[in-house]
Amino acid sequence: MNFSGAVGAASLSPMLRAASRIVIFTGAGISTESGIPDFRSPGGIWTKMAPIDFQDFVASAEMRREAWRRRFAMEDMFSGAKPNEGHEAIAELVKRGLATHVITQNIDNLHQDSGVPDEQVIEIHGNTRYAKCLECGARAELGPIRAHFEEHGEPPDCASCGGIVKTATISFGQSMPELEMARAEEATLACDLFVVLGSSLVVYPAAGFPLLAKRNGARLVIVNRDPTEQDGIADLVLHTDIGPTMQAALNAL
Ligand SMILES: [Zn+2]
Repeated sequence: MNFSGAVGAASLSPMLRAASRIVIFTGAGISTESGIPDFRSPGGIWTKMAPIDFQDFVASAEMRREAWRRRFAMEDMFSGAKPNEGHEAIAELVKRGLATHVITQNIDNLHQDSGVPDEQVIEIHGNTRYAKCLECGARAELGPIRAHFEEHGEPPDCASCGGIVKTATISFGQSMPELEMARAEEATLACDLFVVLGSSLVVYPAAGFPLLAKRNGARLVIVNRDPTEQDGIADLVLHTDIGPTMQAALNAL
């Protein structure tokens, strides 16, 4: 069924209540409510400035400098963003043991910031709040990378192995993270309710998870301001803002 107002939000609570293993799947639409723009949207950053492909990043020192310049230009936005009431409602569902996992396409760390334990957040597009060595996987923090960049005009090599350091995100052209994809699939197959929040479900393989949940017998809820590719197979579709909708559903549990 497809609702757009308070009636629809009221029908979400009984579905949450009836479920015992909920998986939450989030996309850019939940973070826009925290002031982080949707890069893919019409008029978004990537329609004005093409994203840097992974192969170009690896092949070219100039591309790496450009990627880091862009990343540091967004640092105030990322480090200043706070979880909103949508993130907080999800964290509460996890805390109560209703939601087992949060699978996210977002790279902003806001689910962890809202209190969801690291091991229950599955980041299929990585995380931009820290960096990783492409060779050895060692974690590196952005503060020291930025200080090195500002002093030397280029990012440092990995302190452990000398490899190339990149934000811990999955770029265009970069393969999906195997461990996270396997964990996301396992969580999806174990759930009885799959709740999509703020994703237009056009980016694959991420958009395959709600389909997989539905085929496996779980119920499917989609909350997204605009229609999605999978509205037709969902048990409940709400074209509403996420924060108020999730808080209302939580209050009525
Ligand atoms: Zn390394």
